[in-house]
Amino acid sequence: LAVSDRISRLIPYQPGKPIDEVKRELGIVGDVIKLASNENPLGPSPAGIAALQTVLPTLALYPDGACHTLRLAVAKKHGVSPDSLIFGNGSDEVIHLLGLTFLEPGDEIIVGDPTFVLYEAAATLAGATTVKVPLTPGDLRHDAAAMAAACTEKTRLVFVANPHNPTGSVISKADVETLLAALPPRAFLVLDEAYAEYVEDDPSLPRALDYLAAGAPVICLRTFSKLYGLAGFRVGYAVAAPDVIALLNQGRSPFNVNLAGQVAATAALTDTEFIARSKQNNDEGIAQLIAGFQRLGLSWVPTRANFIVVDTGRPAKAMFDALLKQGIIVRAFPKDLPTHLRVTIGTPEQNARFLEALEACLS
Ligand code: PMP
Repeated sequence: LAVSDRISRLIPYQPGKPIDEVKRELGIVGDVIKLASNENPLGPSPAGIAALQTVLPTLALYPDGACHTLRLAVAKKHGVSPDSLIFGNGSDEVIHLLGLTFLEPGDEIIVGDPTFVLYEAAATLAGATTVKVPLTPGDLRHDAAAMAAACTEKTRLVFVANPHNPTGSVISKADVETLLAALPPRAFLVLDEAYAEYVEDDPSLPRALDYLAAGAPVICLRTFSKLYGLAGFRVGYAVAAPDVIALLNQGRSPFNVNLAGQVAATAALTDTEFIARSKQNNDEGIAQLIAGFQRLGLSWVPTRANFIVVDTGRPAKAMFDALLKQGIIVRAFPKDLPTHLRVTIGTPEQNARFLEALEACLS
């Protein structure tokens, strides 16, 4: 079929393998653990789940297309006006809306390389070009000076995930300022804070909302898929100036955020016990994995997110397959990171099992 280049050039997103598929493919009967998609290993927010009791009797009705209750709760949490928010079927959908709204053929976006693949997908769908700026060698951080130098009058969106996926690294306030200073008129810096809840207590790190409050051309992306443990419900959002949000809203499909997701997300926002427990599990899990990597003589990329990249010194695909045979699903990016694996921080038991399997694969 002849279709536009925008579609034919797209490579469908390849998510982490689902547990059931791995069991079927490899004939594994025992436990399989998935540490591949940066999900919360403690499960969903209990308050979010409890709130779902109210949902079943109203399932015959469309959800609130404006996400009114969730909107007010998120606005209160961030201290922003409700019209500074747009919700999506995951922040994935908001990224697509950014492309649909702000990009045209001939426009450019600037991203780190490697980075989260959906930025490029959104640009390709809009017929725009993705300018990829390599991460710094060795420590795999965004090279803000090189990204700033890549800005031209064609640049419309500069995407920085902070903390970054797939590396877990963070950028500095000075880096954000470098990027903002380089933006041409009509361009935005998209700070994708999918993992920001894990570093919210660190005042030394740049916060998209502070730049937004100061009137900078920033769009902040957030999600309920990570710390809040609600990836299955697909709820994400953007915070931006109300005129930016109004434009994004024009291309949004009417009932894009499902009813259960809205209810669970609203309750999860104030589930303080679960939030604290999830952060603690993450901090302790990072320390546990780093201790294991040290013992195995492996190097890793310092992380501030809920995953860590380890350099196994062996071909990434072979290591991925070997771990899979032991019932552990991780993530490999062989083209970009030939000897690295990205592993989600699990429970203490999952981390221990991963380290044991890793050791076995290395010997
Ligand atoms: N941004 C980044 C940096 C991510 O890692 C992810 C999840 N993989 C997303 C956005 C999308 O999250 P969701 O669609 O689940 O909200």
